[in-house]
Amino acid sequence: MVNKYKLSFRLLSEKSEILIVIEGQSFALDYFLQFCGIFGCSVENQSIKFQHVYKRTHEMIKKIDLILKDNNTKKLYPLRKFLIDIEPGKHFLFMPEKELSDSEKLILQLDLKIMDGTSIENEKLKLVRKDVIALTNIYELNIIHPQEHLSSLGERVKSKRKCIYCGQTEAMGATFHQKAHAISEALGNKHVIQNEECDACNNYFGKNIEPCFANNLSAFRVIYGVSGSNGVPHYKLKNKGNLERQGEATVIQVCSENINTQSTLESLKLCFGPKINPLNIYKSLVKFAYGVLPPKYRCDLIRTVKWLRYGESFGKLPQIRTLLNNKMFQSEPIITNYIRKDNNYELPFIVSEFKFLMLTFITIIPYSVKDNNLFINDNDLDKFIDLLPHIKSLKSNIRLRDYSRDAFVNYELNLNFKQVEK
Ligand SMILES: [Zn+2]
Repeated sequence: MVNKYKLSFRLLSEKSEILIVIEGQSFALDYFLQFCGIFGCSVENQSIKFQHVYKRTHEMIKKIDLILKDNNTKKLYPLRKFLIDIEPGKHFLFMPEKELSDSEKLILQLDLKIMDGTSIENEKLKLVRKDVIALTNIYELNIIHPQEHLSSLGERVKSKRKCIYCGQTEAMGATFHQKAHAISEALGNKHVIQNEECDACNNYFGKNIEPCFANNLSAFRVIYGVSGSNGVPHYKLKNKGNLERQGEATVIQVCSENINTQSTLESLKLCFGPKINPLNIYKSLVKFAYGVLPPKYRCDLIRTVKWLRYGESFGKLPQIRTLLNNKMFQSEPIITNYIRKDNNYELPFIVSEFKFLMLTFITIIPYSVKDNNLFINDNDLDKFIDLLPHIKSLKSNIRLRDYSRDAFVNYELNLNFKQVEK
């Protein structure tokens, strides 16, 4: 009889994680011994001890490269990449294979930051860690970071898929030919794909709802060069002019009648062609949040989907909180859904935080059966905001925006210029 081996581990760094599986017959043993060698483990008394915490060393990469030179073990490439991405001297964790929840991962990654940080930084980080633990006691976190989500969400086999919006299956006549981006492709999302969004729903959101959100960010998309399926957008302005990207530069051309040439340029009004429907901005944010939410929470949002997909109303909508902050810049959209664990109805059941470029949108997912309050008052979200370690100190900069109006309106943006002293 041939012995079969299976060993699996999870490695976690401040930025990424990797699952290592060593499986098979005799050849797997060689790989396992190579693996032990990379981490400086040796076999003693028939047992092998791995540490929980490692520091990334140059030696580790050298050892991998030596193995790769003799024998091109493709399996070692992901491990090499994982280690290369960690700065030498910084820590990473060696753990059992058990999948980590987003909350657990966040806390462990903070621990790594504390191990790597200076003592001054660490005092702040320890307070953040305390806040994160308090937050995760109340809310489950569901974090979608496009760079880490290289595989699609939902059922892979088409015949088993059921659309998460209309509930149709292939047997009922739905088709799943298109690649449905859970977050608009126009926002630069290439990786977060929802398998269980049928073509009819994908077309509905793609034609009617999501363009309003993307157009609402038009100036930002040009300025930061965000590339969608047709590259970086360019706009013809209604007040005679153009807004476009030329190489690394943003070029704004305006008609001289719009500028007071006597003084230095202080502000510029850009009037965009496509009109925007505020309600569609709200719906886009809810659509993105719902599309990436773990399936077990969908049954609590049946009314939400009826509103989102078919326009049924279940009462007034709460306002959306927005925040503009350069220090929180994100080149790709990141979603964090906060899902309440208990029955404390003073807090909303699901709140979604959408971060993109220097913008943050904090949106209550409306009409959940787990809420008995619509949260329509200005201070209804204060208790929740106080739970967020990264936002609570910026509370005074948060703006309340009413996106409940269902009508197409002109979109204008005022750019204000400030002279910076050299
Ligand atoms: Zn559908």
